[in-house]
Amino acid sequence: MNEARMRLEEQLRQKTLEKGQTADTLVRFAFDMMRRAYAPYSHFTVGAALLGRNGKIYTGCNVENAAYSPTCCAERTAFFNAVADGCRKFEAIAVVGGPDGNVTDYCPPCGVCRQVMTEFCGPEFMVILAKSHTERKVYQLRELLPENFKLN
Ligand SMILES: [Zn+2]
Repeated sequence: MNEARMRLEEQLRQKTLEKGQTADTLVRFAFDMMRRAYAPYSHFTVGAALLGRNGKIYTGCNVENAAYSPTCCAERTAFFNAVADGCRKFEAIAVVGGPDGNVTDYCPPCGVCRQVMTEFCGPEFMVILAKSHTERKVYQLRELLPENFKLN
């Protein structure tokens, strides 16, 4: 982990960043992660950056597979990365994506990822969609999946 990221995570832990700055940071990390996507089939690359309540940023990209269904989205990759690190509580996620690494529109999470978010996040969890470093839409999870599946 580089020094700049450690410094940033310390600021996030101490909550010294403004909400807007936090969103800027997550969007920047999501754009960086998009470059790591493995998408030889769809050529649609996605990056996600998830802020844990512990102040750490967990990142993910989409990872495709020749058999298609084993493919994992960027958002779930980020969540699973966090859970494997011991983090289960989250503040926000930023998502960016587009064909061949070109972001021209917003990239909302698929239904499966929305369901995964409800496993760990409350209705106020913030989902930040960006189509550039300055253009974004912000949703609460309750708006994206008002009726999630529950085992009861
Ligand atoms: Zn998904």
